[in-house]
Amino acid sequence: MDQGRPFQYDEQRLVCDGVDIAGLADSFGTPLYVYSAKQISERAGLFQNAFAGTPHTVCYAVKANSSLAILKMLAAQGCGFDIVSGGELARVLKAGGPEVASRVVFSGVGKIAGEMDAALAADILQFNVESEPELELLASRAAALGKKARIALRVNPDVSAETHPYISTGLSAHKFGIGIQLARAVYARAAQFPSIETTGVSVHIGSQIRQVEPFAEALEKTLNLVRELRADGHNIRNVDAGGGLGIEYGDKSFDAAQQVQKYAAALQSALGDMDVHLLLEPGRFLVGQAGALVTRVLYRKANGDKKFTIVDAAMNDLIRPALYQAHHEIVPVVRDEAVATEEADIVGPVCESGDFFARSRALQQTEQGDLIAILDAGAYGLSLSSNYNTRVRPAEVLIEDGKARLIRRRETYDELFAPEIF
Ligand SMILES: *Cc1c(COP(=O)(O)O)cnc(C)c1O
Repeated sequence: MDQGRPFQYDEQRLVCDGVDIAGLADSFGTPLYVYSAKQISERAGLFQNAFAGTPHTVCYAVKANSSLAILKMLAAQGCGFDIVSGGELARVLKAGGPEVASRVVFSGVGKIAGEMDAALAADILQFNVESEPELELLASRAAALGKKARIALRVNPDVSAETHPYISTGLSAHKFGIGIQLARAVYARAAQFPSIETTGVSVHIGSQIRQVEPFAEALEKTLNLVRELRADGHNIRNVDAGGGLGIEYGDKSFDAAQQVQKYAAALQSALGDMDVHLLLEPGRFLVGQAGALVTRVLYRKANGDKKFTIVDAAMNDLIRPALYQAHHEIVPVVRDEAVATEEADIVGPVCESGDFFARSRALQQTEQGDLIAILDAGAYGLSLSSNYNTRVRPAEVLIEDGKARLIRRRETYDELFAPEIF
């Protein structure tokens, strides 16, 4: 069954685009993130092709995986970027050069003056503004710098999407955006600032959404607003439909191409013949299934009836199970049908009971030193990692044309201590 992953078995050995995972663990050590460049590029291509009939820009959501090597690859493929901080702006400019700025949108509820200044200096495509006080600050920064800020208001469409509560964003109860019923008045205000140009409307309802209907519903509400705003005299060109398209984390079959087709069809049918430039902000969908976290079994132990497999990766490396109760498939790097299956908790060395990758998971029984791979770790994996417990973060390798390239080496303790004063 095809779950849409580049990690497959070649006989007994797990490979990524033909490259042996156990060999990578030996060369680069563990824990190790491994990504398929091919899948990331294919997924971006799926988006670009599915929307070929509509003027559009795919603005990859940098926070999903902000590796410079991956950003560089996507920039070369014509993608723009959805950023949420000055740090992410610096990243995309470093990876793609100053010319990517014209394809950058800046989202986030808490932009600060310095970040606005940097984005104005880079001349990004659009600020997705999330509140009136933010609008006021942006107007004054732009005026001070003699620039005009192109803005969209991020509207909150009050659409519910069935996903984890922490990654659902499109309800009035969430901190994101401006209530859609208030938007017209805020646009009228925005247009009064000489340093502001109202160029778009944006909406983003959450993450890991597998049904396409909520996206269509949110876009329909957004387009109704666009019609009103145009009638009010705003020159709205960009409609930013946000990101959030989900992937398969379990063992059901998954056809990524078909999923993008359905998504595109739903958005395009909402759009009809409206003349807009569509912005799309996929994050997880491009990188999630392209990555795995490879980790080695340190110890096995039992407390009463309960068995634990302690591995060398931990919640600081991949926090999704701890933070969102997220499920990740876990597979042996060398499979052996002769070995019995055993149920155990797969846990890391960090001093927290929340430090687990799976609970009571049936898996081919492992021995000390064996390797396992935690799949679908390409999105919100390393980008959400930390140095908790003074652990260095994992190395990352990118598989390109059947070869592995180190794109982030393991940190050193001296690098961890460098900012500290004692
Ligand atoms: C996080 C985020 C995205 C990307 O979400 P995915 O679920 O990774 O596709 C897109 N747009 C905004 C504004 C976001 O905050």
